[in-house]
Amino acid sequence: MPIDPTLPYDPNNIFAKILRGEIPNKTVYEDEWALAFHDINPQAPVHVLVIPKGPYVSWDDFSVRASSDEIAGFIRAVGQVARDLGLVEPGYRLLANIGQHGHQEVPHLHVHIFGGRQLGLMLPR
Ligand code: 5GP
Repeated sequence: MPIDPTLPYDPNNIFAKILRGEIPNKTVYEDEWALAFHDINPQAPVHVLVIPKGPYVSWDDFSVRASSDEIAGFIRAVGQVARDLGLVEPGYRLLANIGQHGHQEVPHLHVHIFGGRQLGLMLPR
């Protein structure tokens, strides 16, 4: 079920538990600002999630409350992960779902990186 992105941050969400090391993950990148790991249910040959280390519910929350350093660190991490995965030349897709219409299911900001095949049209018609 999609989450309500206006609720306060829930420190018991699944990605908070991953950040605390309470749940295993297949990490592909980590730095001061971000953690990137393989999606548990991949929808493309490459499907990686990048999350900020701070407690932000969504892109909306992050863009309002995060510091400039956190925002720069996170955005740079997303780009670095895609470069590390060799996705720049063939191309890739970034996706962030927000709230009900976006069908966001986990209430900790995450950017999906999809790649490894021709991804086709942006949205199903
Ligand atoms: P959303 O719809 O919120 O943008 O996407 C949530 C994503 O998190 C889904 O693609 C789902 O497969 C992934 N996911 C949910 N729980 C876990 C988990 O415990 N581990 C990992 N690696 N991915 C998860």
